[in-house]
Amino acid sequence: MDVHFFGAWMEKCARVVHEQREHLTRLDAAIGDADHGTNLDRGFTAIRQALAESPPTAPGPLLALAGTTLIRKVGGASGPLYGSALRQMGKALGEAESVTLADLSAAMDIGLQAVRWLGSAEQGDKTMVDAFAPACAALRQAVAEGVKLPEALAMAAEAADQGAKDTVSMQARKGRASYLGPRSIGHQDPGATSTAMIFCALRDVSSA
Ligand code: ADP
Ligand code: MG
Repeated sequence: MDVHFFGAWMEKCARVVHEQREHLTRLDAAIGDADHGTNLDRGFTAIRQALAESPPTAPGPLLALAGTTLIRKVGGASGPLYGSALRQMGKALGEAESVTLADLSAAMDIGLQAVRWLGSAEQGDKTMVDAFAPACAALRQAVAEGVKLPEALAMAAEAADQGAKDTVSMQARKGRASYLGPRSIGHQDPGATSTAMIFCALRDVSSA
C-alpha cells in the first residue's frame, strides 16, 4: 500500500461520512448532542483540502497530516480521538513509501492505543473502541494466518461492523452518552458506527 492507497482511503472516508452525516447525527441525537455527522463531515472535508494543498509523498506523513487536521477542525470528542489515532498511526509508519499488511496492523494497534490513552475507554463502554478493537484483532489474526490484503481488510470491516452493532445493548460508560445511564441502552453508538464506516472504506479501497 502506497501514498495513493492511503489518499484514496481518506477520500473514500470523506465521501461516505458526507453521505452518512445525517444518519450519524441521528444516532448522536438519540444519546448525545446531535453533532457527530456534522463534526466528521467538517473534519474529513478539511482533510481532503489539506491533502490537496500539500500532497504528502508517503503514507506516514499523509496519515499524520490527516490526524492533525482532524484535531484542529473538530471540536467534539471524536476529533481529538480519531485525530490522535491517525497521527500516531502516521508516526508509526514513518517515512516508508510502501506499507505491508503487517505494518498496517501494527500501526492500527498503535492508533487504538492512542484512543484508549486519550479517552480511557475499554471495550464494553459503548464507544468507538467497541468497533476499533475488534477490527484491530481481526487484522492481527489475518496477519498471523497469512491472509491476503483484500480479504484481511474485509475481515477487519466485518469485525468493526459487528462491534458497532454490539454497542446497541451496551450502557455507555464514557462520553456524553454516559450521562443517560441505562437510557443509553438500545441505541447504536455513533462513534462505533463511524469507525465501522472508516474500516469499510478501507476494505472498499483495497478491493477497488
Ligand atoms: P461529542 O460527544 O463531543 O459531541 P462526537 O459526537 O463527535 O463528540 O462523538 C461522539 C462519539 O465519540 C461517541 O459516540 C463515542 O463513540 C466517542 N467517544 C466519546 N467519548 C469517548 C471516550 N472517552 N473514549 C472513546 N470514544 C469516545
Ligand atoms: Mg456529539
